[in-house]
Amino acid sequence: MPDPSLQAPPSILVAGRLLIDPERAPEPGWILVRDGRIEEIHSGDAPSEAPGLIVGGRDRLICPAFTDAHCHLPQFPVIGADGLGLLEWLERVVYPAEGSWGRGGALAGARRAVGAMAREGTAGFAAFLTSHAGPGADVLSWLEQDSPMRAIAGRVAMDRNAPDDLIASDRAGGDPDEPADRAGDPGTENRVRRSLNPRFAPACTGPLLEKLGRGAADRWVQTHLSESVEEVELVGALFPDAPSYTEVYDEFGLLTPRTLLAHCVHLTDREWAVVARRDSIAVHCPTANTFLRSGRFNLDKAREFGVRVALGSDVAAGADIAMPRVARAMIETAKHRAMGSTEPVSIPTPAQAWDMITRTNAQELGWSGSGVISRAAAADLLVLRPPESWFDEHLIGRLLYGWESGLIETRVFNGGIVRPDTI
Ligand SMILES: [Zn+2]
Repeated sequence: MPDPSLQAPPSILVAGRLLIDPERAPEPGWILVRDGRIEEIHSGDAPSEAPGLIVGGRDRLICPAFTDAHCHLPQFPVIGADGLGLLEWLERVVYPAEGSWGRGGALAGARRAVGAMAREGTAGFAAFLTSHAGPGADVLSWLEQDSPMRAIAGRVAMDRNAPDDLIASDRAGGDPDEPADRAGDPGTENRVRRSLNPRFAPACTGPLLEKLGRGAADRWVQTHLSESVEEVELVGALFPDAPSYTEVYDEFGLLTPRTLLAHCVHLTDREWAVVARRDSIAVHCPTANTFLRSGRFNLDKAREFGVRVALGSDVAAGADIAMPRVARAMIETAKHRAMGSTEPVSIPTPAQAWDMITRTNAQELGWSGSGVISRAAAADLLVLRPPESWFDEHLIGRLLYGWESGLIETRVFNGGIVRPDTI
């Protein structure tokens, strides 16, 4: 049964101050949404009557919904398990949590995680599931058929250095034989895409990476790269012939323009050059890097090498589901680098950080028709009700630093009204 919250009305008129460009003040206007798309955009006061639903109002702020470029659906219940480094945290916190998906908790857990993201205004995400085949298939089917969100998702592939119940041979691997895209019309951007998700090189043998690499040409790949120093050293010991951690993935054909590389904190210049040459995407996860004390991502280095960058919550290493808080952490990470550096460090402005979690993240995840307010764009919109005092030249900074989900009055995802508690 499709979720009733997904039953889109024939049209929705969304009225308020339209935040079309975060570098400029929002202007009064209204948007007509039909068939999942923004059909019309007008300036000035909205008509008082319209055939479909009317949401918003003159004092509301209308902005694109957010996209999260990296998270783990099974880890939402274990946010906040502090005090451990990456490898110990995986063993003691994450693997037990992921094990619960093999004991009947997958679909309910995924729905709760997606509902939590929707509550914070996230309409699209790239996510890891667990390594369980059956439960993973159920979650992917639900995402494709009944969830209001855009998603790139796949079950974790790993075959070593993890508990037996997570690396059983029939579960490891990303099934390169599965269709890459199961939803959406051919030739259009698909709302849900099945990805290959090698967890990270320490949990994958060469043969597994080779198998996954054979399927990487026509689908998205998600993995982790160079998050902590300890992990980088472990990869050096496990793959002694590889010139670098990045080149382990490259050797197996896993670096493509549709590869999302979470973290990239400790890359050498040589590795940045490889990522740039393959046109893969570095996913900066600032809250997670602070939480696990992994290190500080170097945004300037990514820019220097021309590497595309997206922004991810990395729940549960990242404790914040809300993308405005992750955007704020990106600014804070750059400020911390600047305070400890004699070299010049560029610090993103609030408008640039806001652009990351809306337009840029959607574009880098292949949804270039989302994350923006423009004609024919996907209707993934938020109606916010900020205090009137926030409407000055610091509006975007106030949204980032004062964010709370209570600012959201209405969520329009994929052209329909979404109520997070019904997901
Ligand atoms: Zn992660």
